[in-house]
This record gives sequence, structure tokens and C-alpha cells, in this order.
Amino acid sequence: MIDKDILDIMGCIRCKSKLIDREDYLECSKCKIGYPIEEDIPRMLEERIFTLND
Ligand SMILES: [Zn+2]
Repeated sequence: MIDKDILDIMGCIRCKSKLIDREDYLECSKCKIGYPIEEDIPRMLEERIFTLND
């Protein structure tokens, strides 16, 4: 679980939108991508982004 204050500061590195905490990853609903969370740290790296399919 990522602290809400931190989540408010962080944004998608592609579109700067706010991210949604999905427990094991952060979601950008605009780009339909996810950022993995490992050891409670979101990996905000372009090479770690995965595409969400819903
Ligand atoms: Zn985005």
C-alpha cells in the first residue's frame, strides 16, 4: 500500500496523470499501463511499464 500523499505527488511518467493504487502495481487509467510495486516501492521506470488489458 502506497502512502496517499506520495501517490498524489507521483504521476504517470508518460502523461503526468494521477496513478491508482492496485496493491501490487500502480495503474495509469489514461495510458492503460501499470507500474510494478516491489518491496513497497513503485518502479517508475519506462522499461518496467507493462500494458494493462481489461
Ligand atoms: Zn499515463
